[in-house]
Amino acid sequence: MSQPEPKTLAPRKLRAFYDPAFEAPIGNHIMPIQKFRKVADQVAGLEGVRLVSPNPAGRADLERVHSHDYVEAIRTGAPRELAESQKFPWSPALYPSVCRTSGGVIDASHAALDDGAAAAIASGFHHAHDDHGEGFCTFNGLVVAAEHLRHAGRARNIAILDLDLHYGNGTAQLAGSRPWLRALSLYGNDYVNNTPYRDVTQRRHQDGANHRSIPLPAGCGREQMLGLTESSLPWLWEGEPPDLLLYQAGADPFREDPYSPLDLGIEDLRARDALVFRTALRMGTPVAWVLAGGYAPDLSKVVEIHVNTFRAWFDENARPRS
Ligand SMILES: [Zn+2]
Repeated sequence: MSQPEPKTLAPRKLRAFYDPAFEAPIGNHIMPIQKFRKVADQVAGLEGVRLVSPNPAGRADLERVHSHDYVEAIRTGAPRELAESQKFPWSPALYPSVCRTSGGVIDASHAALDDGAAAAIASGFHHAHDDHGEGFCTFNGLVVAAEHLRHAGRARNIAILDLDLHYGNGTAQLAGSRPWLRALSLYGNDYVNNTPYRDVTQRRHQDGANHRSIPLPAGCGREQMLGLTESSLPWLWEGEPPDLLLYQAGADPFREDPYSPLDLGIEDLRARDALVFRTALRMGTPVAWVLAGGYAPDLSKVVEIHVNTFRAWFDENARPRS
């Protein structure tokens, strides 16, 4: 029995980019920012994972995606309204922290092109727009990394798959002026003007030629979620296939999450991750993933969902491909 030559090589060591400086000083907030450290601690114990501290993103990286005035506001704190548009208090420590998280996605993207896969133990910050932040998202690390790879000549077409609970409105806005980017968001909560909407039957955004959204109805369970994901994924590979898949693996679709109207358990989200990785491996597309939302009261479950994304990668990577 002959197997086709896989286009991507299995990484001997999966690089996971993390730095304690990812933790922006936002005080006691619903965003459990300490989860990133807990995920890093557990992931470091998985066989085959190597934790690496990323370089911070540079000013030029940020300004390929965000306006000069917005980047300046985040750096200096003025004007304060703009510096806090992502809805947490500004402090001088914010700018170095968000440069580091965007740098994590950049370095994970390079590592994925080298090794076939890599991860950043940071959020993708998919609500961040070109000239302001929203929903705890300051700089859109996904698009910052995509632009960086294009500028470095390492990728021409890039796909972003957003499986956070919330609609990736910032990524969609940024995709609108980038025809080489293709963004797909499957969401159970709509999101506009810093406000989440639980009722996804109300249309509050418009799809474009290269950004598409698929609503998951309230009460959506495993089979429906996996079916909708599987049927919508091929669009990312239509036409010229992507050189890299950036995958935002949200933990907030979990049924115990205060924002989630979906009926999805920890194992269902692991099956979701496995489906994504299986598809990327079959298509020979390198994948870099990031964490995203996760606000369940039991933080250990949020951490488990994120660590399971790594386990799903190793499971799928070890599976024979046909
Ligand atoms: Zn979310």
